[in-house]
Amino acid sequence: MPGAFTRTDDPGHNRTPAEKLLEAWPQIDVHMLARQLTEGAETTISFKPGLHFSVKAKAGFLDINGQQIRVGWHASLPLRTFECPRCGKPKYKLSCVNGAWWCARCHGLSHTSRHRWRGAGERGRRARIEWLRRRIGADSRPGAPSPAGSLRNLRKLRLAIELRDLELGYAAHNREKVSNVVEKRLDDRRRRQSRKRGDPS
Ligand SMILES: [Zn+2]
Repeated sequence: MPGAFTRTDDPGHNRTPAEKLLEAWPQIDVHMLARQLTEGAETTISFKPGLHFSVKAKAGFLDINGQQIRVGWHASLPLRTFECPRCGKPKYKLSCVNGAWWCARCHGLSHTSRHRWRGAGERGRRARIEWLRRRIGADSRPGAPSPAGSLRNLRKLRLAIELRDLELGYAAHNREKVSNVVEKRLDDRRRRQSRKRGDPS
């Protein structure tokens, strides 16, 4: 949603209401629960005093306080995934808003850090990309592939995924700038041609 947030150099600045932030709600991570996903296992997850969820692992799904959430596998990586009960897409994380465990997209939630990088501008994004590349031991050239080792280490895999998303966003951002320039040139050319033809402007 470009334009929904004021561009600012203050990385901490954001205008998103607190209830739309991911951090405001309990969240489960399939990797965090992976050890407990063996059928028949039961556990309780606590988020803060008085906020607990009982989790029972059944065949192919988790029962969380009575809500059934299907669990599957990533299409190409040896990673477990949840199936969002609303959109049916594979997700690593689900958030509980008003009793429903859905993905962030279905709840319309966004991540504080996403807003932070959105506001950080081009220099901030580039700095984050460079930092991520160093952390996972990747070549510093933009777009260079992540080393295979980093995909086996879960923490590094997350960083690699963040890097990929940032670089995709970065590429899209720059394409946008490029296409805007091209469109403006076409507009100018059209305007000149119509002026030549004597069309009304
Ligand atoms: Zn969803």
